Amino acid sequence: DAEVVLVGRSNVGKSTLMRELTGHDFTTGKKPGVTRQPNHYDWAPESFMFTDLPGFGFMSGVEEDRREAIKTDVVRYVEENAEHVLAGVLVVDGKSAVDIIDRHTNDEEIPHDVELFSFLQDVDVPPVVAVNKMDKVEDRDARLNELCERLGLYPPWQQWDHIVAPVTAKRGSIEPLREILRERFREAK
Ligand code: GDP
Repeated sequence: DAEVVLVGRSNVGKSTLMRELTGHDFTTGKKPGVTRQPNHYDWAPESFMFTDLPGFGFMSGVEEDRREAIKTDVVRYVEENAEHVLAGVLVVDGKSAVDIIDRHTNDEEIPHDVELFSFLQDVDVPPVVAVNKMDKVEDRDARLNELCERLGLYPPWQQWDHIVAPVTAKRGSIEPLREILRERFREAK
């Protein structure tokens, strides 16, 4: 079966988004890094699955080697399942993503969100970026342009609307993401 994978840092709203997409209530140990096994959900009526992979990136209170182990698990899972993964949804926090990316770029390390995005492309999993928490973003177009630029998608963001989906999961406002996934599903048939 086709599968949709959600990845992203802790606390960006992956669980909330999964709940909105699937209608399943989704509660796990809320401590970052606790859930290491992917959680699978069927998404009726379409016959594809959602897999929520553990958040990674900054996880406060989680040891460095444990963070690395979680990251390795996520990467391995996606690699092993790449063939039937219809879309890899990178979930980011629209309010803070650019600042976090820039902070880490200064550390001369590749920021996790950027790394994840190019990783999905490398393993031929079509990436989707769910830019969540848009309710907290005031300068919407400017923020989305900046984020696109950091991910190597040349602005304006609107020309990437088959990849970039601004959403507010908490309010159930996720239509742009649904539309992208529907389109991917149609193409895959
Ligand atoms: P996860 O760790 O990625 O699974 O994130 P959660 O789904 O647990 O959400 C983390 C926090 O962000 C929770 O307090 C959510 O209520 C909040 N959150 C999720 N989506 C949104 C949103 O669209 N807007 C705002 N303002 N907060 C959100």
